[in-house]
Amino acid sequence: MNTAHNAVTSSLEDRIIAKIKASGPIGIDDYMTACLSDAASGYYQHHDPFGVAGDFITAPEISGLFGEMCGFYLAHMFDLAKANSDAGMAGGELVELGPGRGTLMRDMHHVWQKLMPQMAEMPVNFVETSPALRTVQSATLKPVTPIWHDAVDTLPQTPIFGIANEFFDALPITQLVWRADSKNEVGQSGGWHHRLVGLVNDWPEMRQSTGTGADLSIERLGFVDGPRLDDVALAMHHTVLPAAPCDGSIAECCLAGDKILAQLAVRIAHHGGAMLIIDYGRDGNGQDSLQAVANHQPVDVFHAPGAADLSHWVDFAALQRSAAANGCRLIGPVEQGSFLMNVGLKTRAEQAGNNADPDMRRALLAAIDRLTNPAQMGAVFKVALLVPQGRGIPPGFEG
Ligand code: SAH
Repeated sequence: MNTAHNAVTSSLEDRIIAKIKASGPIGIDDYMTACLSDAASGYYQHHDPFGVAGDFITAPEISGLFGEMCGFYLAHMFDLAKANSDAGMAGGELVELGPGRGTLMRDMHHVWQKLMPQMAEMPVNFVETSPALRTVQSATLKPVTPIWHDAVDTLPQTPIFGIANEFFDALPITQLVWRADSKNEVGQSGGWHHRLVGLVNDWPEMRQSTGTGADLSIERLGFVDGPRLDDVALAMHHTVLPAAPCDGSIAECCLAGDKILAQLAVRIAHHGGAMLIIDYGRDGNGQDSLQAVANHQPVDVFHAPGAADLSHWVDFAALQRSAAANGCRLIGPVEQGSFLMNVGLKTRAEQAGNNADPDMRRALLAAIDRLTNPAQMGAVFKVALLVPQGRGIPPGFEG
């Protein structure tokens, strides 16, 4: 990390602190948005975080076979959609949410060029907010020129076929915390409060460590309790709260993710299409899943705002509710490892391995292991498929 970058990140922290001092604690969603998307200092805005030199590595950057399998899969879904459409499907465009370096779309596009020219000719729509990554994507995808969107709202009203890999985890969440001693207006104990980002003091530890008793208090960003939420406010959080919370229990929800899923579902219910949603997550609301990563290591979520990646574990059950409320099915989630194996990754890897020298073969096997082994990305990452209402379970999602 260079000094210039440090200077920029500390100024984001200063700005967040100044805002809290002026108008009180902020939501975790606002904190995440500032850290990830602030125009001057947001994590994704000015640098390429992927790969060995960055903070994390994603499936398409591990092996081109990941994109190939996704490309085959979407080609199959396109075929099915055409076959099922009585009037013949009109138009059709490609969509990727949060395309990173553009590697996944490039690898899928190679498949379509060979196998499904109709898809290869469709316009490519990227939903991407980072100017730095848009530049990288443009170079990766050449000679294809994508159409960029700041948000899902402006995606075309046509059948859409596409993918979102590690996109939903980057969307801002809100959290609720249960306080056993919180009382409602009629004196009943126990209630959910907003969990906010405010200023906390580190002074007790400082006094102990210096032994001077001098006031060396340090104000830093930390979690604080916000107002107690009444039933109406709780219902707006669209989350399934634990039935028997105890003091300090945390529930979280991602309203931004639910809304984006709803916007995709409305299009797919009306025009047809299919979207693969791949991410780390679980089939339901866990507790606090907010996490920060810098240089491939977990760090505190308040560590150098803007310099670390902040994300959360995707609640696929919430996305499913959003799909169903808007005329679609979100099938799955299934574990990434079993999905990739069930749709033929092993056979494809053996084929590729036969044409490779021993070193390349070893690298290929290591990449496949990383993507599919439950001890690596195979179980933590889940795959889900957004399609119109209907029956039947498509390949990869059986069982
Ligand atoms: N899909 C890629 C990159 C995942 S990282 C891969 O698998 O390699 C998350 C991506 O989502 C980045 O491209 C980031 O710039 C983008 N992103 C994050 N928050 C976003 C938002 N709110 N709107 C649009 N894009 C966003």
